[in-house]
Amino acid sequence: MSSKGIRSVRGFSDVLPEETPIWQWVEGTIRQVLEAYGYREIRLPVLERTELFRRSIGEVTDIVEKEMYTFEDRNGDSLTLRPEGTAGCVRAGIESGLLHNAEPRLWYSGPMFRHERPQKGRLRQFHQVGAEVFGVNAPELDAEMIVMTARMLRDLGLEDVRLQINSLGTPESRAAHREKLVEYLHKHYERLDEDSRRRLETNPLRIFDSKDPHVQSVMADAPRLLDHLDAESAAHFETVRNLLDEAGVEYEVNPALVRGLDYYTRTVFEWVTDRLGAQGTVCAGGRFDALVEQLGGRPTPAIGFALGLERLVALLAERGHGGRAGAPHAYLVVATEAAPALRLAESLREAVPGLRLQMNAGAGGFKGQLKRADRSGAGVALILGAEEQAAGEVTVKDLRGEGGQQQLPFAETVAYLREVVGA
Ligand code: ATP
Ligand code: MG
Repeated sequence: MSSKGIRSVRGFSDVLPEETPIWQWVEGTIRQVLEAYGYREIRLPVLERTELFRRSIGEVTDIVEKEMYTFEDRNGDSLTLRPEGTAGCVRAGIESGLLHNAEPRLWYSGPMFRHERPQKGRLRQFHQVGAEVFGVNAPELDAEMIVMTARMLRDLGLEDVRLQINSLGTPESRAAHREKLVEYLHKHYERLDEDSRRRLETNPLRIFDSKDPHVQSVMADAPRLLDHLDAESAAHFETVRNLLDEAGVEYEVNPALVRGLDYYTRTVFEWVTDRLGAQGTVCAGGRFDALVEQLGGRPTPAIGFALGLERLVALLAERGHGGRAGAPHAYLVVATEAAPALRLAESLREAVPGLRLQMNAGAGGFKGQLKRADRSGAGVALILGAEEQAAGEVTVKDLRGEGGQQQLPFAETVAYLREVVGA
């Protein structure tokens, strides 16, 4: 690109055609699992009123304090590009009456926006698939949802991802813990960073979420929320754990796991890998039993999670997934007029379901066209010359294996291509 060319915005990246097959495969695999558990897709806008995120994610969180893309539109309304999907999903559920006397299981996917420092696995526009279930507070739903995420990761072939779980109790049980936590943190005030000192007054639980190693070492010995759970939350957590044990899903209880958003209650969980550095969480979620009411709906328990697609794709790409997937099966070399070639291509597409056929356009010599066929990634070149045309046949040339070259009648060409597509 010339130096005058306009470049993409920092942290906003393109997914190029050689990468899209992995994306499609990841999205398709996740979607199949969601459907197998009775989830239905909801499509939500990327733009919401800023107030929605302030009231749900929480004022004293990294996202709301420093990461949102917020602007005034031409009417002077404050709008924000969604940094996550749950708030919009709850908003839509309330607004459409979807949550009344129903227990919808919903999933969504699409871009999210956070003004973070871009690095591997951390972008400013990134993509999530998320799911939420409303109206059910039973612990078996928590367990089933976690089992479902385990299946997704297994179907994606990602086995070295660890599950961490915790319980955050209820807002009431958190109040008792908060006092002890604040007292402890005052004793270690000098080891806290500036952010944590400020949050000590406003939202001390958030300090567990700090990425600063000094702060993390202070938090390692801090009073644990898990020891202050109300009886009901403790029983709920125990049932979730027992069900996971029964299901054979391994996990580690991490008492410091609090998640970066304020709306969580009771069960929270994360799937973490060591292979992406500090960007190791590929899936995260939990209960948010108070959020619907907080956003103006009737009290409705809920639970959900989101998967970070860039991180899943990065893990798979590292393993050499992808390759020529998505490339055409066949490339049609045109050594005749264009009209019969177009006709042949159409007939083949009709006769061979699923066939990806690219026809040469812009003429070019025979050798040049074969070079293009090779560059296209196709496995087979089809050649239509005067001789083939006169005989009603096609020359089929294997570009990748030992198959050589043969001139075949139309019906046999179809049979050959069906096998290529089916393989
Ligand atoms: P992290 O701790 O890595 O910042 P988070 O707790 O902020 O993650 P969530 O809000 O729970 O993340 O989002 C769910 C998932 O979305 C994360 O586990 C991660 O896989 C992905 N994700 C979050 N932020 C980004 C980002 N900036 N770029 C790429 N993926 C992201
Ligand atoms: Mg984050």
